Amino acid sequence: MRQERKPVRLLPEDTARRIAAGEVIVRPASVVKELIENALDAAAHKITVEVKSGGKDFIRVVDDGLGMTRNDVRLAVFRHATSKIESIEDLAKIYSYGFRGEALAAIAAVSRMTIETNAADGEVGTKLEVEGGDIRAISDIARTPGTTVTVRMLFYNLPVRRAFLKSDNYELRLIWEQLRNYALAFPDVAFELISNERSVIKMPAVHSLRERMLQLYPRQTVEALIELRVQNPILNVYGFITEPSQLKGFTEVQAVYFNRRPVRCQPVVKAVYDGYSPLLSGKHPDFIIFLETDPSQLDVNIHPTKQEVKFANERFLFDFISEAVNSVLVTSRRQQISAEEVFVHDSLIDNTRAVSDFWQLHNSYIFAQIASGYVIIDQHAAHERILYEEVKKSRQRNSVTQGLLFPITLELKPEEFETVERLQKRLFEMGLEIKVFSGRTVVVETIPAGSYMGKDELRELFSELVHIRSDRTLLEDELAKLVACKGAIKAGQRLTPEEMQSLINRLFLCAEPYFCPHGRPVIIKISFEELERRFGRI
Ligand code: ADP
Ligand code: MG
Repeated sequence: MRQERKPVRLLPEDTARRIAAGEVIVRPASVVKELIENALDAAAHKITVEVKSGGKDFIRVVDDGLGMTRNDVRLAVFRHATSKIESIEDLAKIYSYGFRGEALAAIAAVSRMTIETNAADGEVGTKLEVEGGDIRAISDIARTPGTTVTVRMLFYNLPVRRAFLKSDNYELRLIWEQLRNYALAFPDVAFELISNERSVIKMPAVHSLRERMLQLYPRQTVEALIELRVQNPILNVYGFITEPSQLKGFTEVQAVYFNRRPVRCQPVVKAVYDGYSPLLSGKHPDFIIFLETDPSQLDVNIHPTKQEVKFANERFLFDFISEAVNSVLVTSRRQQISAEEVFVHDSLIDNTRAVSDFWQLHNSYIFAQIASGYVIIDQHAAHERILYEEVKKSRQRNSVTQGLLFPITLELKPEEFETVERLQKRLFEMGLEIKVFSGRTVVVETIPAGSYMGKDELRELFSELVHIRSDRTLLEDELAKLVACKGAIKAGQRLTPEEMQSLINRLFLCAEPYFCPHGRPVIIKISFEELERRFGRI
């Protein structure tokens, strides 16, 4: 986007035709969007948007960008006049917002437009007046480098469209949303919005996205966010997502950008939700996600106002974002918890010598006293974690299995049978030895050591196996999660003190004892101090 100023040229006819044309100007906010994009493409440092009556009567966008020469500005108001591409091939390396050379022409056709500009090349500035698409006057003006576009009486010559505009307040809100979209993408650019001669918001340039967010959202919202940053040869992601303990029932910001272009991108939104999945329980995250990729991977030309783009590999996009979100959540919670929990870990192991310190609540949660209070362990999640790590390890070592005294025979559905056959070797490596008996009947001879799998659990396992994602990198992990989930002790299962002790000891041999493979907490610690506080003692 930040580039040298180039002359405006008319695109060759065939190029022009191949660029998706469309109705780009449907309301005042579309004018504001196009004019802000032009200012940013011209490397402006400061952009002021001034409107009256929700932009219906008056829109003015002032920038201090590269400006236009007289020749440029005369051409710029015609269709397919652009300085940003020369041929369709250039789209594969486009970083600018504009490339169709349509916006100024479209605005000019439906309003009374004035452009005042100076290209900072020593020449005098130019004022160009256009009405309904026709140039009415060109004159000299004195102006500092940059461009001012003023749009009066939008749709004055299209009364039906003008009549369809909503209330001033509503139109202003849409304008404000456009401004916010670009303000977030360019923290180092100053923005101001003035409505009916009153300054609505003034955002000086800042150094980071977080600082820009603080200019736009309540402090509490911004402080609930954690940073996300993952790099990959084909895709980089940077942004912020809500820290899981701060999730709410509503959202304040859910924004996705591709190469700084604000887009609606359902796959990315879905992937973010997927990355959180077990933690959401009906709540919603705020997020702002910036994706960066080589422009050749991105089709920006599929939508008239470019609000949608298409990434070359959508499946990869989904998995990449989902994994990125998931891993940053797990890391952040581990960091939060580890400072004090490391010590719990040690004192817990000491404590486990006194078996009587364990107590099982509703046959589901294990309570254990520790020096500074007590911990509650979710027995199913704990066991899931243990099995998950063991199953994953057993692929590298020889798997530790438990032979079944009475092998379990099951008849599978065709799709289940097909999946089991396909994954038979991997399942074997994880400790599940399955033999085909006849037809679609299989016999399970061993299960992973330490797991609890009967006929019901195996049935569930096979039926869920069918839905497992087949992507190669994820397969191992998904399989391990599934096997761990089905083999783990369930809630409601009574445990003896010895079993509880063994479970806790094994849990603390895990690399990541605090979270189950799906990211849910395994251990909650309640400090003595918290009890005292809740009972009003301190
Ligand atoms: P596009 O942005 O697709 O090129 P536009 O109709 O929006 O098409 O603008 C046409 C041309 O006018 C741009 O390519 C650019 O060279 C010039 N232009 C428009 N607005 C500005 C601006 N604010 N500052 C400098 N040049 C501008
Ligand atoms: Mg443009």
